[in-house]
Amino acid sequence: MSTPTVTVFRDVRPFGAPGAVDLIAVDGVLAERVPEGVVPRVVEGAGRIALPTLVDAHIHPDKTAWGEPWYSRRPAGSLPEYVRGDVDLARHQRTPLAERAHRLLAHAVTRGTRAVRAHVDVAPAFGPAGVTGLAEARERLAGALDVQLVAFPQHGVRRTPGAAALLAEAAASGLVDAIGGIDPAGFDGGPDGEGPAQLDLLFGLAEEHGLELDIHLHDRGGRGLGPLHEIAERTRAAGLAGRVVVSHAFCVPELTGPPLAELAALLAESGVGLTTVAPSAHQVLPFRTLRSHGVRVGLGSDGVRDSWSPYGNADMLHRAHLLGWTTDARTDEQLADCFALAADGGAELLGLPAVTLAPGSPADFMLLTGECLPQLVVDLPPRELVVRAGREVARDGRFTG
Ligand SMILES: [Zn+2]
Repeated sequence: MSTPTVTVFRDVRPFGAPGAVDLIAVDGVLAERVPEGVVPRVVEGAGRIALPTLVDAHIHPDKTAWGEPWYSRRPAGSLPEYVRGDVDLARHQRTPLAERAHRLLAHAVTRGTRAVRAHVDVAPAFGPAGVTGLAEARERLAGALDVQLVAFPQHGVRRTPGAAALLAEAAASGLVDAIGGIDPAGFDGGPDGEGPAQLDLLFGLAEEHGLELDIHLHDRGGRGLGPLHEIAERTRAAGLAGRVVVSHAFCVPELTGPPLAELAALLAESGVGLTTVAPSAHQVLPFRTLRSHGVRVGLGSDGVRDSWSPYGNADMLHRAHLLGWTTDARTDEQLADCFALAADGGAELLGLPAVTLAPGSPADFMLLTGECLPQLVVDLPPRELVVRAGREVARDGRFTG
C-alpha cells in the first residue's frame, strides 16, 4: 500500500464556528486523525474561516469576453437579437475559445468554485468548436475543477436547419455530459406554438446516449408551464428522475400558494431539478419553497461578460450575495440559505458529494478572514486559499492548480 497524502490545515473555523479545529485531509477526504506513521504537511490557518467550495450550476464559458478588450454591446430585447449578438462577438474575439474558457474557469477556481456545469453553444454558426474547445479547457483544469458540459442548441433546433444534426453529433461525441434545449414552445416552437418536436429530439438523444438533460426555459405563463409539465411527465416516463434540469424557469416565480406547491410536488416526484441565476426579484426562483418540497435547486452565474451582458464575474460567493440581494435576505438564516444554495444545492444538482467539512467529507474548501458566515456572504472577502481534494489549487487570487 502506498503512503497516503496527508495535509493538516491547522486552526481553522468551519462555517465560521467560534472554536478553531484542525482539518485533516487524507488522500482528498477529511479524516478524524492523521494515519499512524505519517508525517503530514501542515498549513497554518491562523483562525481563518473554512467554507465549502461552491458549485456553479449554470455558466456559459464559450461566450465570454472575460480578459478580452472591452466589448460595446448593442441594445437587444429579444432572444433572436441576443443570439445575433453572440455570433457578432464570436467574430470579434481575439483569443481562441479554449483559452478564453480556461481563463474564465481558472479564475472561478480562485474565487472558490469546485465544479461547474458549462452550457456550450452547438449551432451551424459555430460548428463543433464550442464542445471541443470546452473539452480542452476541462482537460487542463482536471484535478482543480469538475466541468460538466451541456451541448446547448442556443439557436433552436426547429428554427435553425442543421442544428439538430450537430446536437446529435455532440451527443455521440463522448465529450458532453448533458444535452441542452431552449424554449420548446416559444423561441423554438412550431408556427402554432406546439413544442413537442424539440423535446422528442432531446429525450431521444438522452436515452440513446445515456446523457442528462438541462433545458433553458425563459418563457413565462402557459408557454413556460406547459413544457415544464411535459418535461416532468417525459422524465418520469423515461426513468430519467434526477437526470433532468430546467434552467431559469421564469414561469415558476409567477406562481404562489397552492399552484406553486403543486408544481413543486410534481417536480420533486418526477426528479426534475431547477437552476436560477438570481437575475432579479421577479425572475429568481422561490428556492426555499422548492427545496422544502424536495426539488433540487442550483445556483449559477449564467453569462459572464458576454454579448448578452457586461456583468458577471464567475464568483459564486458573489452570486450568493446577489441571491440575498434579490430575495431581500436580512437574517443570518436567510443569508446562510443563500450560501447553501451555492454549496449544497449545486452539489446535489450535479450529483456531487456534499462538503460538510466533517470526517468523510471531500476536502474541498476555501479559507477566508472574517467573523461569521452571513458576514462573509455580505462582505465578500478575498479567498485566501482554495483547496481541492486536500490540495492547494489557488492562493491569494492566483490559480496554482
Ligand atoms: Zn444560460
